[in-house]
Amino acid sequence: MSHHDERTFVMVKPDGVQRGLIGDIVSRFEDRGLKLVAGKFMQIDDDLAQEHYGEHEDKPFFEDLVEFITSGPVFAMVWQGADATRQVRSMVGETDPAESAPGTIRGDYGLDLGRNVIHASDHEDEGANEREISLFFDDDELVAYDRVDETWLYEEE
Ligand code: GDP
Ligand code: MG
Repeated sequence: MSHHDERTFVMVKPDGVQRGLIGDIVSRFEDRGLKLVAGKFMQIDDDLAQEHYGEHEDKPFFEDLVEFITSGPVFAMVWQGADATRQVRSMVGETDPAESAPGTIRGDYGLDLGRNVIHASDHEDEGANEREISLFFDDDELVAYDRVDETWLYEEE
């Protein structure tokens, strides 16, 4: 893998889907130069929710979180590019929308910690990106291709 082949998992949560924000969120990552390599509009069941948020199982908000993430469809995606996990997290903002800077997704669209529009793999949690990708996608659902503008996005191949 070259330096710009890092992949990260992103998901528009049920509130983002219901509020019609899928298109805007996809556009932001496209405009940044990241490459969409997988996407799935789906309903998360209880088992997948418990596994995806397993690190939070002992937290007081866990039950509400599982109920919320299974309450309606989500749009799950894999985005690829240089330093993708960290760059996507910086575009997402802080966990709490109220603490997120304007210009970030949560800072532009959210006000409440429990309704923060989007999930993205944590760059501080080593391997979280690949773990989450394989939880939501089979290998054959990840599509390899070149973006026509790739030679203009990176100085070197
Ligand atoms: P993230 O990686 O920025 O999404 O944040 P975390 O991994 O810490 O938490 C996962 C999700 O749980 C967050 O996106 C919030 O939706 C929710 N969450 C985290 N902390 C709290 C909290 O203190 N209260 C509530 N209600 N939800 C929380
Ligand atoms: Mg997290």
